[in-house]
Amino acid sequence: MLRGVGVSPGIAIGKALIFKVEGAVLGHRTIADDEVTRELQRLEKAIKKSKQQLVSLKNKVSKEAGKDFARIFDAHILMLEDEVLINAIRNLVKEQRINVEWALKEVRDRLISLFAQFNDEYMQDRGIDVEDVWQRIQSNLSLNPTLNAANLSEEGILIAPNISPSELAQMDKKLLRGFVTDAGGRTSHTGILARSLKIPAVIGLSDVTSRVKEGDLLLIDGNEGVVIVNPNLTLIQEYESKKRRYQEHEVELLKTKELPAVTLDGKRIALMANIELPEEIDSALQHAAEGIGLFRSEFLYLRPSFSLPSEEEIFLLYRELAEKLTPYPATIRTLDLGGDKMNNLPGVSHEANPFLGLRAIRFCFKRKEVFKTQLRALLRASAYGNLRIILPMISGIEEIHQAKLILEEVKEELHSEHIHFNPRIPIGVLIEIPSAALIADLLAKEVDFFSIGTNDLIQYLIAVDRSNVNVSYLYEPLHPAIIRSLKFIVDSAKKHQIPVSLCGEMAGDPAALIILLGLGLDELSMNPYSIPLIKRLIRSLSVEETRRMVRGIMRLTTARQVEEYLLERLSRMFPEGYL
Ligand code: PEP
Ligand code: MG
Repeated sequence: MLRGVGVSPGIAIGKALIFKVEGAVLGHRTIADDEVTRELQRLEKAIKKSKQQLVSLKNKVSKEAGKDFARIFDAHILMLEDEVLINAIRNLVKEQRINVEWALKEVRDRLISLFAQFNDEYMQDRGIDVEDVWQRIQSNLSLNPTLNAANLSEEGILIAPNISPSELAQMDKKLLRGFVTDAGGRTSHTGILARSLKIPAVIGLSDVTSRVKEGDLLLIDGNEGVVIVNPNLTLIQEYESKKRRYQEHEVELLKTKELPAVTLDGKRIALMANIELPEEIDSALQHAAEGIGLFRSEFLYLRPSFSLPSEEEIFLLYRELAEKLTPYPATIRTLDLGGDKMNNLPGVSHEANPFLGLRAIRFCFKRKEVFKTQLRALLRASAYGNLRIILPMISGIEEIHQAKLILEEVKEELHSEHIHFNPRIPIGVLIEIPSAALIADLLAKEVDFFSIGTNDLIQYLIAVDRSNVNVSYLYEPLHPAIIRSLKFIVDSAKKHQIPVSLCGEMAGDPAALIILLGLGLDELSMNPYSIPLIKRLIRSLSVEETRRMVRGIMRLTTARQVEEYLLERLSRMFPEGYL
């Protein structure tokens, strides 16, 4: 039995599937004359297989996400059919007597540096396509092909050193029963996405990849962060009944669906959902979300290879969101790429610290046309419902001014094209960088609302990488510095009479709820599955009482003390348990 961080609840049993090891080194090998034919045959086979995979991937994406999405694979297939390219590889093998992997690498390197020289972002993006196709051929050349994101071919539980959000977004969810990784933290985007997709996951196990073999039977409990390798029958039965109890509990909690989230002393809290993918809109509504507090729209950009969605594609998605949610609001975050989401952005050189680098609004200012396309789509969709814009990673006032200027530019364009939009669309900021938290009083004068992104605020305030398992013990939402910071942000919003929401993972945490109510938050946005439990707790708490408790909590000096205090209060308030 191994223990890690249960990052996405649920119990799964299945065969272990070993995910590819990132960055496998492919060595140079000189081949004998009589090996040339065999090497060339290996190349032909790998190309043929890659083509078949791409065609089936194209069909699958076309069915799931539409023809426009699927078109990106055409460029990849064309590359595999390009005789000039393939001949360049063949010739290297023949003339230099080298193994095909190395010949492939040489041609790839030449192409990538060629694309990088262009000053044109479109051409630079094509370098990413080359990389994608090349990796596919390399993996199909392998004598013992390992799994990769696109070719999950059987049902099971994935074991990997790490899984990126884009890899998870591409996997066949019908085959993926769950996953387990060495790396990762609770608020890593992979964890967030797993919860949204309801895929049980345990992460941060350090060395699970060396403890599990392909084909081992695995049992994972994402609620408790437990992984059992080759469990016996008794354990399997025990966990199956746990799974049933867990499902019954979920049904029980959903009975609050029709009831409002109102405290004993009458304060109404808007409970909203954070979503990443359009498929989740229905789940948000089924769990009685009163709006979308955060739509992480960058997941639209995490495709098999980085290719930009068109304005029309983005517009159609946002319109669907606006129409389905109406009259409730849907808060759309402008692109937050970078950090642990797509840190190999096209046209952006490698960064040593992607979380401190060209992420989110910073990337949007650099790639203004990408930003403008998104804003155009967003404004156009605002004519169909109640949309709000939220800007991520704002560190100071100038960034708000700059974003507003670009928004005005887009509004004028639309206006001159006689396209309808909501000219008074609310614009808010995510308070998730310490500098923004410290000037919340100044920022409050500039925007229509705040939403506190504690996932990042904790990471940056405590200087602890949210996805690094080695320092996850320091990632403490109840740290007095976080609570003080939240208090200042909420007080600043109240002083300037703008609504304040919280959309980090903390919003779905029952113990933290006491603090959030006591501080005066108006709106909480969380994973849709957490809404019923949080609503039940809100209905049995009074704001007045939580305010008193917060006064006591402000005097405590460590996260541990705060946690003990909250758990003790909760167990007194809910002697039968609250989960
Ligand atoms: C946050 O940082 O708290 C947040 C809500 O955004 P994300 O987790 O996507 O960074
Ligand atoms: Mg964030």
